[in-house]
Amino acid sequence: MKLFTNKKKLQNEIKGKKNIIFVPTMGSLHKGHESLIKKSIKKSNVTIVSIFVNPKQFNSKKDFNSYPRNHNKDLKLLSKLKVNYVYKPNYNDIFNFKTNNKIFLDKFSKRLCGKHRKGHFKGVVEVVNRMLEIIKPKHILLGNKDFQQLVLIKRHIRKNKIQTKVISCKTIRDKNFIAYSSRLKKLKKLEKKNLIRIIKVLKKYKKDIQSGNSVFNFTNIKKKVLHFGAKRVDYIEPINLKNLKTEKRNKFNLFFAFHIGNIRFIDNF
Ligand code: AMP
Repeated sequence: MKLFTNKKKLQNEIKGKKNIIFVPTMGSLHKGHESLIKKSIKKSNVTIVSIFVNPKQFNSKKDFNSYPRNHNKDLKLLSKLKVNYVYKPNYNDIFNFKTNNKIFLDKFSKRLCGKHRKGHFKGVVEVVNRMLEIIKPKHILLGNKDFQQLVLIKRHIRKNKIQTKVISCKTIRDKNFIAYSSRLKKLKKLEKKNLIRIIKVLKKYKKDIQSGNSVFNFTNIKKKVLHFGAKRVDYIEPINLKNLKTEKRNKFNLFFAFHIGNIRFIDNF
């Protein structure tokens, strides 16, 4: 495994290599990241994992500063997984050049997390756009856990005719159906217990709606989620994955974001 902090050196190293797969991350790696990386290694002999906590996608300095970082443990894991290249740039390495592409933010960016985190998706698309320009991978692997992000990156790629294909990857969960997330490391014991209960409630709610035993009602489900220990609910919305419209009956995923302890948790299932 080779570690690069400088884009020029990385570009020199990968010049002429075909079939590059790129897995962008913000580090503090967990089993979700691990499954993306393993998938990449299976598909290609050139896997590049980036670790970059992108300040542009955070809404507050405090949140950016307190985002979990775990440099040594991450590198150990990546080396164990036999990743070929790790790109761990600083801010300037990513943002000090002029990009060829115009940032395209589809109108889907205005919904769900977009309503509650101003500028977040612009920051995400900006950084991924730059990483793609530096690496020019054949594929980029992105998780369905951040489905809205995945859709927006896909649409930016399509609009700008970038020659990288997005591969979406399934969400990896623990035995309580909680999606692994870097931020979970910051939960206290009781908060984790509450999160387990909330996920159980949301899972049952979806099942009840789909079997016709319940009708989606935001006020009711929000009340329940608060009752089980969330501090604040940003949204809970049933969305059809094909047309991205609200769909309250059959084929939908429940998308949600709520605050618990000192973290904001998002997922969809
Ligand atoms: P992050 O480091 O949180 O920016 O995530 C990096 C990539 O890993 C993104 O494409 C995420 O969607 C994906 N990811 C995060 N959590 C999970 C998970 N539990 N299962 C699968 N993929 C995930």
